[in-house]
Amino acid sequence: MQIHIANPTGLCFGVKRAITTLEDELDKTKQVYSLGSPIHNTQEINRLKKLGLIVVDNPEDVPFGAVSFVRAHGVTPKTYNLLKQRSSVVVDGTCPFVRTAQERARALSKEGYIVVILGDVKHPEVKAIMGYVEGEVVVLSDKDEIPQFLIGKKCGILSQTTQKVASFVSLVSSFISVSPEIKICNTICKATLERQESVFRLASEVEGMVVLGGHDSANTHKLVEISVDAGVPTKWIEHANELNKEWLKKKENIGIAAGGSTPDWLIKELIQKLNVM
Ligand code: SF4
Repeated sequence: MQIHIANPTGLCFGVKRAITTLEDELDKTKQVYSLGSPIHNTQEINRLKKLGLIVVDNPEDVPFGAVSFVRAHGVTPKTYNLLKQRSSVVVDGTCPFVRTAQERARALSKEGYIVVILGDVKHPEVKAIMGYVEGEVVVLSDKDEIPQFLIGKKCGILSQTTQKVASFVSLVSSFISVSPEIKICNTICKATLERQESVFRLASEVEGMVVLGGHDSANTHKLVEISVDAGVPTKWIEHANELNKEWLKKKENIGIAAGGSTPDWLIKELIQKLNVM
């Protein structure tokens, strides 16, 4: 069996930067409270917990005087202030690309646009971006129609960083016919784009694609969709152990891709496993 690895794949710049910052802090203070999981990967979280990571759901769960951590998805200004009030230090791991999306959203609202975000309204990155908007904000998924109340209005459109380019183009095109004025900020990050393109290229060359990444990872989900859309049998796993011989049967060329929150050590484990199957 031949194994081909999508290039680039795995940990993106923003998550790598956030995790390195977190590890440095854990090394110094031995205990850091992260608001939400710093990476959508159970195995990596377990490793970090052994180093002193504590994951909490609310800023109020951070004890006064503790060190807190903001993950790559970022938080709203309100949440950041709450963390600041409680923590001795707030270590900010917000990805610079997410920060740009937050600033663009704020600027668009200040310029009088209704802010339209293409994304998942429940996703923490989107919630954080919404927190920067000073006026009206609407979140649309790639399946939503433009709501009636937006027709004829000035809209500023941006995207969750991990959305598919095709979905963003399609949303923008729909607005062109119903809005007198739109301003577009392309906030899809380059890392996402490169990973999506590499999956598409590889999926068209192999007989099966294995996509490695957390089931709660938005960008991994998009990679799976792209692979499925390319018409190749696709297996989405979080760990090499989930792969079985039955699925690999009669496949000579296997492609591997990993989501932007999948650490290198998990990819290596998968390659080792495939090599002995
Ligand atoms: S996918 Fe892009 S925006 Fe999101 S954390 Fe990674 S580099 Fe940053």
